[in-house]
Amino acid sequence: MPLDTTTPTDAQKRAFRTDLLDWYDENKRSMPWRDTDDPYRIWVSEIMLQQTRVDTVRDYYPRFLEAFPTVEALANADRDEVLKYWEGLGFYARARHLHEAARTVVEEHGGTVPDTRDAIRDLKGIGPYTAAAVLSIAHDEPHAVLDGNVTRVLSRVFAVKEDATTSTAQRELRRLANDLLLPDRPGDFNQALMELGALVCTPSTPLCDRCSLQTVCRAHEAGTEEDYPITPESEPVPHHDIAVGLVFDDDQLLIQRRPDDGLLGGLWEFPGGKQEDGESMEAACRRELEEELGIKVAVDDLFYTLSHAYSHFKITLRAFRCHIESGTPEAREDQPFTWVGLDELDDYAFPRANRRLIEELERRQSEPSLFDAPPPDAS
Ligand code: SF4
Repeated sequence: MPLDTTTPTDAQKRAFRTDLLDWYDENKRSMPWRDTDDPYRIWVSEIMLQQTRVDTVRDYYPRFLEAFPTVEALANADRDEVLKYWEGLGFYARARHLHEAARTVVEEHGGTVPDTRDAIRDLKGIGPYTAAAVLSIAHDEPHAVLDGNVTRVLSRVFAVKEDATTSTAQRELRRLANDLLLPDRPGDFNQALMELGALVCTPSTPLCDRCSLQTVCRAHEAGTEEDYPITPESEPVPHHDIAVGLVFDDDQLLIQRRPDDGLLGGLWEFPGGKQEDGESMEAACRRELEEELGIKVAVDDLFYTLSHAYSHFKITLRAFRCHIESGTPEAREDQPFTWVGLDELDDYAFPRANRRLIEELERRQSEPSLFDAPPPDAS
């Protein structure tokens, strides 16, 4: 019988937990991070899994842990190396914060990941969700998690009428999750709810016929599953035109590191930026290189055009082959640059759109004209 209250009785909670955990024990997917109770490894998996598909994390997780098997190994690593192992996962602030937090764990906690909510929340990049996940899964501490999957399942089971993105709704959902949490197996309960959201209570066409919570789900009883969670109308995704310069010096190419804070912070890229109103793409390329590196370039030709979708916007990127007409590149604060050969580009971490450009450079490197742009000191 569907739950007719947002304060379930003890009997209703017991039934909910039993149904959910029985399903989980039989159906949970095998994941490398489910074979460990090492808080560091669970922490890494939870950070990687934020806004990233499980199948993608399955590839990255073992490689990352092979390179950085302990929190000390991560703390002692160079940040560029950490970003290189994160390349392609996106949301690079996660990697920078994880690295910084590992250093804090070593310096302030003797290399042991803290096991109290206050101490773990003090670490860079750990919010309420990650703290609850690590504490419940690694330490069996009774903290409920609330991620997108749990939000969806509980919004449907309780037919929560509030916009799920508001703090009021989030508070109510967190209260429900904590109220339902199985105190003896909090880590498994949290993972079970997330797993059900990922495999059964999916955003569209949920598989209610296979759902262990079907009998208690209000949305299912009313046939309104897909009306929940209630969310505001999404804004149209903005689009930007980006011009970048492939500045050659013989067989060397100029690359620059992005500022630490902000999107794709700390990654390397070919210099460039957004086209401004009324500006041609070639003019945008010249302006950006002058602003970023203090060089005046001549644009030789359009090398490649690609489209790419980031999480909150889309870009069309045009890469122009250029040569320096005047000036010598100067690094801006927090944005060093370097010259590299094509075969060295793999040593640096690049955003995905730049990586596609590198693939095109590699594909065409045997073309006699690829490196023909005049050298920087040509007049
Ligand atoms: S019955 Fe359907 S809508 Fe309700 S929790 Fe299960 S899958 Fe989700």
